[in-house]
Amino acid sequence: MKRIALIFDMDGVIYRGNEPIEGAGELVEFLKERGIPFIFLTNNSTRDPAMYREKLLSMGINVPEERIITSGLATRLYMEKHFEPGKVFVIGGEGLWREMKRLGWSVLALEETGTGGWKEVKYVVVGLDPALTYEKLKYGTLAIRNGARFIGTNPDTTYPAEEGLYPGAGAIIAALKASTDVEPLIIGKPNEPAYEVAVERLKRIGPFDEIWMVGDRLDTDIAFAKRFGMKAIMVLTGVSNLDDIGESPVKPDLVLPSVRELLDYLRTKLGEGNEHPGTP
Ligand SMILES: [Mg+2]
Repeated sequence: MKRIALIFDMDGVIYRGNEPIEGAGELVEFLKERGIPFIFLTNNSTRDPAMYREKLLSMGINVPEERIITSGLATRLYMEKHFEPGKVFVIGGEGLWREMKRLGWSVLALEETGTGGWKEVKYVVVGLDPALTYEKLKYGTLAIRNGARFIGTNPDTTYPAEEGLYPGAGAIIAALKASTDVEPLIIGKPNEPAYEVAVERLKRIGPFDEIWMVGDRLDTDIAFAKRFGMKAIMVLTGVSNLDDIGESPVKPDLVLPSVRELLDYLRTKLGEGNEHPGTP
């Protein structure tokens, strides 16, 4: 029998805005009781894992911080492992700033950019920045054109919010791509760096033979699952719907209304009694 591990997207899967999806907290408790390795993996870099833990706790969902991977954390872990230390210029939100400071490689302060500080920058790391300015794009452009490595946290060009679709990290990355003619390395789903970081974390939690990826977006979550041989489970509580699946070249392996039905599915598949018996 195969032992499973799960990766969950968060927004549109576990909650919507500040509202938990029914069954999400129960599912988390079920997985913890059974000792089934799982992590939460989000392309959002504006919060760090500690901030997400607080958000989840406020909705009654108790997930340890080490089970939460943001694209900002994934970017830090990937850079630590693969790149030489060097000065970082950040275009991003609070979560990304925190992660980049944790690198300990020195982060260029905005005040230093105007005094030529951008010339020493080795990495320009770009995520969703709610306080984006022309100055940031200008110095990001100058640094990349000066040879700094161009890294993006995630490719999402938009994200769903109250008034409709807002510009995402991918839109800011696209601006810098246009002004530099340089292709960025993009860390988040559906790309390889996110997979590498997620699998390494899952392995630290416990043994498994296969991974199930649970998400709401075809172009990130489901594409990510299919690209790396994970079982692709799509829930209909978020961005993509059944019509989108019909039109999409990427198809999930299983479609469920929500995580509530995933919990029912796991209970049936795994039986009530065993600890981590895996899939039949
Ligand atoms: Mg989502």
